[in-house]
Amino acid sequence: MSVLAIRSLCKSFGGVRAVNEVSFEIGKGEFLALIGPNGAGKSTCFNTINGQLKPDSGEILFEGKNIAGLEPRDIWRLGVGRTFQVAATFGSMTVVENVQMALISYAHQTYRLWRPAASLHRERALELLAQVGMADAADRPSRELAYGDVKRIELAIALANEPRLLLMDEPTAGMAPRERNALIALVKKLVLERGISVLFTEHSMDVVFSYADRIIVLARGRLIADGDAATIRENAKVQEVYFGTGKTFTVAAP
Ligand code: ADP
Ligand code: MG
Repeated sequence: MSVLAIRSLCKSFGGVRAVNEVSFEIGKGEFLALIGPNGAGKSTCFNTINGQLKPDSGEILFEGKNIAGLEPRDIWRLGVGRTFQVAATFGSMTVVENVQMALISYAHQTYRLWRPAASLHRERALELLAQVGMADAADRPSRELAYGDVKRIELAIALANEPRLLLMDEPTAGMAPRERNALIALVKKLVLERGISVLFTEHSMDVVFSYADRIIVLARGRLIADGDAATIRENAKVQEVYFGTGKTFTVAAP
């Protein structure tokens, strides 16, 4: 059974069909890239899956259960994680305190009767920092962090709830090429170890073709291709959308 199955998903804004009859699936442990030009509907797709937007129609089956239209908190509690922006305003707090804050705020979003005390959150926060290679920075003020390190911390926080599906909309936005590769490589390593499925968007075709197990392509709200890197690279419709001609992708095969 697929971890996620999207069936005929539709979402319009006024006259704009942002997501138009989109269907695709994600298997267990699969690292799936969603690509497409600006305005193709990628973020709308993400936000209907995570509950921030209500779809007009269609099904979003997570482990067989239709989650379309549920509240974000309920979807998150079922095991669908996503990367959140770490509040950069807490620059005076240390790195580990920032992660603790996130864990405490998440705990409040659940309906658990037993909530771990702050000291347990610190232990858990240190564990998570170690997993993303940030243990040494635990007691540094957050404002000293490089941008790429903030992204690692966002990842640590997203993994805290042990999601079975992780949604990452442009996790490497604003990063230099080397940092992009490092972050996606880290995500892939961590999710492979845990068997987590990932849906992500990424602008760098180099990164997409190197790391994604499979790629799906949106253009003007429609899904126009679904396949592995070689299939997508050779797809005439994809080439037309990206280049307006039959020109092929220039990136090297991984
Ligand atoms: P992408 O993430 O692929 O760049 P989006 O999903 O953000 O694309 O946008 C898809 C289309 O929907 C675009 O035409 C965009 O202008 C429109 N759109 C997205 N969000 C809204 C909104 N909240 N209100 C109105 N139009 C929107
Ligand atoms: Mg977007």
